[in-house]
Amino acid sequence: MKIKESEAPSNEIVTASSESSSLGCPCTLVKPCRPDCTCANSQMSGGCGRCSAYGSVIQRLASATRLAAIIDNAKSRKHYEVDADINLVFDNWRRNGENIYATEEGIGLRMGNMHSGTVFHGVIRLRQNEHQDLIEAAETGAYARMRVILRETP
Ligand SMILES: [Zn+2]
Ligand SMILES: [Zn+2]
Repeated sequence: MKIKESEAPSNEIVTASSESSSLGCPCTLVKPCRPDCTCANSQMSGGCGRCSAYGSVIQRLASATRLAAIIDNAKSRKHYEVDADINLVFDNWRRNGENIYATEEGIGLRMGNMHSGTVFHGVIRLRQNEHQDLIEAAETGAYARMRVILRETP
């Protein structure tokens, strides 16, 4: 069986300077995938993690397959998630919705580490639309108030 020349895999190395293959790559428009990304700077030899413009045909095919799967997978998910850095500002102690901060028990509790106004740093995993809600609320000075419930106790 004869393989046509054009179908035979070649080990030709394609670089940004030899053709405009990187033109559609996001690295030419936004923060590059890494400092030595070749799409962002044709003097660099790092290749690119966001497109399939570099390497042999087989390498390019492998990266195209990987990238297509990532994009299709992300599109198929209704909401993608973001890990947002948050400040948790301690408010008070409650039980069954009732503020017990001023009670004897609450006074005992707040002799500990958590006082009204103490700020804790956290990361919260949000759907993109939930994250957007918080951002829009913050622009107006509004914020979400939540309960802290440990999912696991040691
Ligand atoms: Zn890149
Ligand atoms: Zn690229």
